[in-house]
Amino acid sequence: MPHATAGGPGRIHGDGSVTAHAPAKINVHLAVGPLRADGFHELTTVYLAVSLLDSVTAWPDDGLSLTVTGEGAGGDVPTDSRNLVWQAAELLARHAGVRADAALHIDKSIPAAAGLAGGSADAAAALVALDALWGTRCTRGDLAGLAARLGSDVPFSLVGGVALGTGRGEQLSPSLSRRRTDWVLGVAGTGLSTPKVYRELDRLRATGQVAADAGAGQPDDVLTALRDGPDATLAGFLANDLQAPALELRPDLRAGLAAMTGAGALGALVSGSGPTVAGLVEDADAAAGTADALVAAGAFRLAHAVHGPVPGARLAG
Ligand code: ATP
Repeated sequence: MPHATAGGPGRIHGDGSVTAHAPAKINVHLAVGPLRADGFHELTTVYLAVSLLDSVTAWPDDGLSLTVTGEGAGGDVPTDSRNLVWQAAELLARHAGVRADAALHIDKSIPAAAGLAGGSADAAAALVALDALWGTRCTRGDLAGLAARLGSDVPFSLVGGVALGTGRGEQLSPSLSRRRTDWVLGVAGTGLSTPKVYRELDRLRATGQVAADAGAGQPDDVLTALRDGPDATLAGFLANDLQAPALELRPDLRAGLAAMTGAGALGALVSGSGPTVAGLVEDADAAAGTADALVAAGAFRLAHAVHGPVPGARLAG
């Protein structure tokens, strides 16, 4: 049986299934450069992996199938070849020269289309789970190469922690920063399309409403403050060039940012392309209290107390 020796004996459960988890990310700093000839923008970003995890479980089966529970199930999250998990399975099978045979299940806690890289997390978890199920014995380098082909954020979902991302975000320089920071993620009612937010940024720059050279700037201060603190200094360096276009498309997010700082966050920004608002808070107690207060006040549909950095995609116990 192809899966009998994969990933070590402790990894395959009694029913033959393998589960992997992967984290959501916050872009603590995101500078968007010019549009490239290939249609992507040149990015410089500081990724932080946080403790909101999706899980992907894979069982032996004939052919591919996919089910989804949790956030976005039955709505935004497709259950066919449009799902990044399905694409990850096909890509790994082709790379390894094995048949794409597996039943897959995603249990989502990361809201879809929220700027938290939920789909990318699922793709990274699928690569790790299926490598174990199929016994394909890929190195982390092999998986990173496949991840970059699946999407700009997938390589980071695989490594986690803190990393500087350049290129489309897929070229990573991991940081040794391990200092814990606590955050509240305020999740809005409906998602935002990432391509739409980039198009809005291009429009704002073309019409001079946002200056192309007055953006988030260099990430060095953020990296230093993430590593050494204090949090009040880090709060002052949070920056995201996609925040202006996200606010243009979703003016309600202004109230979300104000509610976050009003509820005690040291600083707040839109995460990635939004619409999630990430607020930096003092500690775990402050995160739990702020999250409860924001939901009670109706400022967000959901609010999660999280911390980072956490590891990237990995097999469950
Ligand atoms: P991006 O990584 O583009 O910034 P995001 O983090 O804002 O995206 P995702 O949760 O990754 O958002 O979802 C973006 C879109 O990708 C969804 O609207 C959905 O159509 C599609 N998608 C494909 N696979 C998945 C998945 N496993 N989970 C969620 N969405 C998925």
